[in-house]
Amino acid sequence: MEIRITKTTTPQTMPPEDKLGFGKVFTDHMLLVDWQEGKGWYNARIEPFGRISLHPASTVLHYGAEIFEGLKAYRREDGGVQLFRPMENIKRMNRSAERMSLPEMDEKDMLELLTTFVKLEEKWVPKSFGTSLYLRPFMFGNDEALGVHAVKNATFMIIASPSGSYYKEGINPVGIMIESEDVRTVRGGTGYAKCGGNYAASTRAGERAAKKGYSQVLWLDGVERKYIEEVGAMNVMFKINGEIITPMLTGSILPGITRKSCIEVLKTLGYTVSERLFSVDELVEALENGTLEEAWGCGTAAVVSPIGKLAIGDKEYVVGGGKIGEVTGKLYDILTGIQWGKRDDPFNWVYKL
Ligand SMILES: *Cc1c(COP(=O)(O)O)cnc(C)c1O
Repeated sequence: MEIRITKTTTPQTMPPEDKLGFGKVFTDHMLLVDWQEGKGWYNARIEPFGRISLHPASTVLHYGAEIFEGLKAYRREDGGVQLFRPMENIKRMNRSAERMSLPEMDEKDMLELLTTFVKLEEKWVPKSFGTSLYLRPFMFGNDEALGVHAVKNATFMIIASPSGSYYKEGINPVGIMIESEDVRTVRGGTGYAKCGGNYAASTRAGERAAKKGYSQVLWLDGVERKYIEEVGAMNVMFKINGEIITPMLTGSILPGITRKSCIEVLKTLGYTVSERLFSVDELVEALENGTLEEAWGCGTAAVVSPIGKLAIGDKEYVVGGGKIGEVTGKLYDILTGIQWGKRDDPFNWVYKL
């Protein structure tokens, strides 16, 4: 794929690494590719970062035709930059596109767009452990008409944001509450797709939980309101009696790359990992009889996020003594070690630029 590059004439400098936060600072450039039915992908270009202009009838503004990905570029100690399992993000983006009637893109082309863009923005990959350049590929339907159908025009973009360490103040276990009213998605819906609409629909519950002093909600399935699905925008894992349990991918759960990587690491370490339906009743039983040893969320942003408190209805339980558990800590060390290049990568997950 030919990529036309127009460099900015006003390059910016990165704020101090300890002031970055998440998703607030953007790099000098952005990448765009257009798609039209019958013509395919065309006009791949990197331009100075800035506003984009849309027709007021653009499909994305009315019918939510939007998908995205999230991955990071990591700085190694030797100064080099690397990605973590980027092909997994690329494949998932295409699965999301298929679900939302958006166009798919050749995997190699998408990888080339990603690596060309990151190489151009290399100076924006921060250096301290825990910091990264967060990459946000996304795509939206962009027909300039109000009729409802699979789009005939779309735009693929990549923007990037240097981000601070998720755990600047150390890994503190979070409090979560079971959401009994809203559901994130349903089987047959869009749960397995990384689409903006899923987020729009789940924000209300998150805000209500925050008002009650909890940082995330634990989502239940939308059909029986019985089985645990995810925590906030992360996948979730439990350790009960030595066994690791994580909800199976029923279609309403986002197939996280961190989830997949945790499962592979845990199996290598000799743990039994069960991907299955896991009900709230089973969780309550394990909390009541003291067999719930650890619980954690997992996703690219936090890597792992230990759960220290769990509210179910009017009851609040402490999980794992409110501290980070042994397995949670191990997963954090191993995954971050591989991602920042401090450890060997026996799985071949790292993609060096
Ligand atoms: C992105 C996402 C995750 C985590 O996926 P990773 O690939 O591990 O970052 C989990 N749940 C939801 C709803 C997500 O959008």
